[in-house]
Amino acid sequence: MREILHIQAGQCGNQIGGKFWEVVCDEHGIDALGNYAGTSRVQLERVNVYYNEASGGRYVPRAVLMDLEPGTMDSLRTGPYGKIFRPDNFVFGQNGAGNNWAKGHYTEGAELIDSVLDVVRKEAENCDCLQGFQICHSLGGGTGSGMGTLLISKIREEYPDRMMLTFSVFPSPKVSDTVVEPYNATLSVHQLVENADECMVLDNEALYDICFRTLKLTNPSFGDLNHLISTTMSGVTCCLRFPGQLNSDLRKLAVNLIPFPRLHFFMVGFAPLTSRGSQQYRALTIPELTQQMWDAKNMMCAADPRHGRYLTASAMFRGKMSTKEVDEQMINVQNKNSSYFVEWIPNNVKSSVCDIPPTGLSMSSTFVGNSTSIQEMFRRVSEQFTVMFRRKAFLHWYTGKGWMRWSSRRRRAI
Ligand code: GDP
Repeated sequence: MREILHIQAGQCGNQIGGKFWEVVCDEHGIDALGNYAGTSRVQLERVNVYYNEASGGRYVPRAVLMDLEPGTMDSLRTGPYGKIFRPDNFVFGQNGAGNNWAKGHYTEGAELIDSVLDVVRKEAENCDCLQGFQICHSLGGGTGSGMGTLLISKIREEYPDRMMLTFSVFPSPKVSDTVVEPYNATLSVHQLVENADECMVLDNEALYDICFRTLKLTNPSFGDLNHLISTTMSGVTCCLRFPGQLNSDLRKLAVNLIPFPRLHFFMVGFAPLTSRGSQQYRALTIPELTQQMWDAKNMMCAADPRHGRYLTASAMFRGKMSTKEVDEQMINVQNKNSSYFVEWIPNNVKSSVCDIPPTGLSMSSTFVGNSTSIQEMFRRVSEQFTVMFRRKAFLHWYTGKGWMRWSSRRRRAI
């Protein structure tokens, strides 16, 4: 058994984490109370990667839920899947982080972090052979970003040889709560570069554009964005949850995708894109899926792969289909677009097929790419940071209590 311990932090983290578990439970035939009601043995073959088995055969998500205010977790608890989580694994404060990274990282969050670590430790000790952690959070607020990255650094200290995967939601003014989000995101990215092993970039800017342009939703809500996120998370983790050969654990995924340790921020794509409530039953073809999956419009990160080159990429197809045809189509894409793949990593695109499709679709594909074009997204956040930082706008919220010193030359919190 190679278990993964899931953590969700802050409002966004808990909202997308909650959706992730709904989708995963459904795929593994586990009902809202944790009982197995599925149809195929394959659903249970690797169920222990994400679930603990409690007495009575109940499956309990190996999940820790944390927040600095009770609201979001209260709604989760009273929601349809609220009873599936272990009640002791809800850890929350009362004061909130006020969308302030420093409060999450240095004050409010620092006060609560030991209680979270206690729960994490308890779960880790229960594991047969823990492979690593995954954390869902946003980078634009205070809790998921500030306290989330504090937890990542504490876990790294205590479990240096375990993998750390993040699902990180990057902020966009198109769906923004506050003006200081670029500050919070920049501070978080510094932490993720150092302390995370692999980061799946979920960019609210791209998610909004997909909802608006492709799915024709005139006023996308977080629910719509989160539907795309949970579909993608299910696709990305499919290789970890079901039997198969490619990228079957977090370390193998990292080995295939990361040629240099700091370049571990991935663009993820999904095909076919569907909106909430309108699942697509139309039979898709493998060439269509392949074409869509590589398309910039299907990427959950606002960066155009044609403005950079792929260092590595990996594709997971789901559904009943011919492996041979998948291989042919993937080779075809690479041959036609060879200038977009670095020539100094031969065979840098891997693909595989899992025969269980996601619920409501006959087939799908998920793409994870390590592309130099991701710098477009980092540049966007960095420019938003710089215009405010140049005037020292809003800095007193971060420095007021002596939490942080900012070095303007190196633009980094020390
Ligand atoms: P925290 O509770 O202090 O971690 O703060 P939030 O998670 O609310 O962070 C605010 C950032 O997260 C902003 O960039 C929001 O646009 C984004 N955000 C908040 N909730 C959601 C959500 O449910 N889905 C998505 N995609 N983004 C969210």
